[in-house]
Amino acid sequence: MKNLLIDKKSGENLIINVKDVLIGGPDKVLISGPCSVESLDIMINISKGLKDIGVNILRGGAFKPRTSPYDFQGLQIEGLKILKTAASIVNLPVVTEVMDLRDIDVVLKYADMIQIGSRNMYNYSLLKEVGKLNVPVILKRGMSATLKEWVYAAEYIMCEGNYNVVLCERGIRTFENYTRNTLDLNSVCVIKQKYRLPVIVDPSHGTGLSEIVPQMGLAAIAAGADGLIIESHINPEKSISDSRQTISMESLSTLYKRLKILQSLNL
Ligand code: PEP
Ligand code: MN
Repeated sequence: MKNLLIDKKSGENLIINVKDVLIGGPDKVLISGPCSVESLDIMINISKGLKDIGVNILRGGAFKPRTSPYDFQGLQIEGLKILKTAASIVNLPVVTEVMDLRDIDVVLKYADMIQIGSRNMYNYSLLKEVGKLNVPVILKRGMSATLKEWVYAAEYIMCEGNYNVVLCERGIRTFENYTRNTLDLNSVCVIKQKYRLPVIVDPSHGTGLSEIVPQMGLAAIAAGADGLIIESHINPEKSISDSRQTISMESLSTLYKRLKILQSLNL
């Protein structure tokens, strides 16, 4: 079979630079923030808390892919503005999801990195379009995607010229339904061995349960992940979306300290 651009054989391991935060280098990266951007006030308080903890990149959804059309769909452009304002106060880069081709330009006005969500991993027109840009991308694994399908989705972006791709394992749908998804950490080990893109893990969507998010985050780091993306909030129970899996600032702070200890072990 032909070598893919993503294969280790095709070149050096790639380190993705998001406003001087390096993903895929020696330091593990922590990306965190609420599932959805809710208001300027809340977003500023969250950002300040995250900055104090040592978080590297701020996340927050403005365009939200919700299972029910009757659920909160995100503040959209207003959400992007809030996210950017809050991030500028604490001087952190921002990642947010782009759901639709038509929103790419407006999202790029406010974001430093874009996220392609699980539901859009198979959206090949979106992948190609993002591939034409010179912007860092988090490509989440489709909830029913095999490792191969996910790798090819990354290849779609790379073969258009954009190599700034960070893979994100966020759990897959299995027969197990106690947890929201089954966090497949096998994929992390395989990606680190065979492919040259960094991989981060999202234990929030991967478990759906805030009480096990920190442990699974640490397990992901032990498996070799280059970083974590975690949903957090100053008041997790009050989060408008995904409150059940959102962790507090205190819990994130403990997780961060443990992550640094694991990093120092150089596993
Ligand atoms: C999210 O990050 O808020 C999200 C919707 O994630 P996923 O696409 O993995 O479901
Ligand atoms: Mn979410």
